[in-house]
Amino acid sequence: MRVLAFSDLHGNVDVLKMFAKRIEGGSFDYLLIAGDLTNADLIGDLEIVLKQTSEIFQVIESLEIPYYFVWGIPFRESIIANLLMLEKEAGNGSRLKVYSRKGFKYLLRIKGEMESLISSLKYGKWLRQDMVEKLGKCKITSNPALVDGKTVLLTHYYRKLTNALIQIEGHVHYGQRLGNYLNLGFLYRDDSHGADPLIGCFWVLKFEKTGVDVDWVDMGGNLKVYRCPRHPEEGVFYIPVNWRKCPVCYNPGRNISVSRSMNMY
Ligand SMILES: [Zn+2]
Ligand SMILES: [Zn+2]
Repeated sequence: MRVLAFSDLHGNVDVLKMFAKRIEGGSFDYLLIAGDLTNADLIGDLEIVLKQTSEIFQVIESLEIPYYFVWGIPFRESIIANLLMLEKEAGNGSRLKVYSRKGFKYLLRIKGEMESLISSLKYGKWLRQDMVEKLGKCKITSNPALVDGKTVLLTHYYRKLTNALIQIEGHVHYGQRLGNYLNLGFLYRDDSHGADPLIGCFWVLKFEKTGVDVDWVDMGGNLKVYRCPRHPEEGVFYIPVNWRKCPVCYNPGRNISVSRSMNMY
C-alpha cells in the first residue's frame, strides 16, 4: 500500500496545485492530511473562509485518491472547528449567548454550508475524534486513546509518542522522524509568526509487512535532512536549509524523545 501525506498548507491553493502536478501519474492508495489546510483563523470573513475551504477541497477531490483529513484544531482552523461544533456548544447553553439572533442565524447558515461541503466529498473523510476507519489492511484514527500497533494515528498535534503503527502529525513546521513518529512539516509555510513564506514537502509512505517505509519529497528545494550531533536521540529532522541547528537546539522544550518513557495508556 502506498500512501501520500502532507500537512500545513495554510490556504495556499497554488502550492496545492503544484503538489497535484508533482504526483500526477503516480499510483497511490490513500492521501493523509494532518491539518492546517486553510488559514481560516487569519481571515475575518466567514464567507471567504468557506470559499477558500471549498476551493482547496475541489483540488484535493480532483486527485481522485481516497483521503482522510483532520483540522488544525485548536490553532489555524479553530474557526471551522468551532463552527462545526456549534450545536454541541449550544446544547450546554453557554458561549452562544454572545451572538445576536441575526449573527447566530448567519453562523448556522455557514455551518450548514460547511457541513454540506464536507459531506459532499466523494473521496475524502474528516477523521473525527471518535472514529476508527479502515486504511487498507490497517486502521486509522485521530484519537491517541484508540491506537494500537495496527492503527495509524493522524492528528494535527499530539507530540507525545504513542504505540501507533505510525504516528503522523504536523503543526510544528519542521519534519521529524523518530521510530514510529513522523512529523510531516509543512507543504506551505506562510508569513505568520514572522516567518518567510516557504514551499515545503510531502511524503510517500509504503506500508510493508515489516513496517512503514517513509520517503520524503522536498517540493520547493528549500529543506534539508538533518541529524543533530547534540540531539541524536531526536531522530532525523527535515528543516529549512538555512537553519544551523535542530529545532531542539533552538527550543529545548521541543524534545519529544523524553515522552517515550511516559506511560500514557
Ligand atoms: Zn501550521
Ligand atoms: Zn540539536
